Amino acid sequence: MKGNILIVEDEVRLARYLELELTYEGYSTEKCTNGRDGLEMSLNGDFDLILLDIMLPHLNGMEVLRRLREKKDTPVIFLTARDDTFDKVSGLDLGADDYVTKPFEIDELLARIRGLLKRRARSNSSSNRFDDHLSINGLSIDIDRHVVTYKDEVVELTKKEFDLLKYFVENIGRVLSREMILEHVWGFDYYGDTNIVDVYVRYIRSKIDDRFGVKFIFTVRGVGYVLKDEK
Ligand code: CA
Repeated sequence: MKGNILIVEDEVRLARYLELELTYEGYSTEKCTNGRDGLEMSLNGDFDLILLDIMLPHLNGMEVLRRLREKKDTPVIFLTARDDTFDKVSGLDLGADDYVTKPFEIDELLARIRGLLKRRARSNSSSNRFDDHLSINGLSIDIDRHVVTYKDEVVELTKKEFDLLKYFVENIGRVLSREMILEHVWGFDYYGDTNIVDVYVRYIRSKIDDRFGVKFIFTVRGVGYVLKDEK
């Protein structure tokens, strides 16, 4: 068995079609046609992935996901219609892992499902570092989506601040000189002086360390900085 998938979709023919295709591909499926059942089944069942329509009777998909995420992190792919007032960004913020827009090619959906299950398997087998997602002590960086959170609170970072934080987290525990940081984050084409690094470290500290009363980035006098995962 490749995985157990819940289909929450009120268009009966589409739900049936998905069920047939997924079964043919070797997945086991369950399905329901409204948001209330969808939420109950996803909370009580043991699913590897959920296909979740947005416009649903009783409880819409966004609300189902919001309530589900209070309890579980089962991967969710939104099935959105072109005319849904679905905002991709807020959907992903809510914790959807991916989405497809109807009408979609089944091959595309199957590829997304395989990708998500693979990512999930990988993240479960490594402790706290994976390709697209880094996390330490409540600080979490989603590389694919450029989203940083601290204990579920979103931290707004500019592109450069994000790149800098990512470099720190990828090199956790390793002292990074200003020159190394410049080279990796700004690139060889940066001709200014290394004070820019101090400026950006200050930005990140004000947005994470100061804001949440934690300490991630430590100064190593005369050398540079190190990100540590100790409290
Ligand atoms: Ca619908």
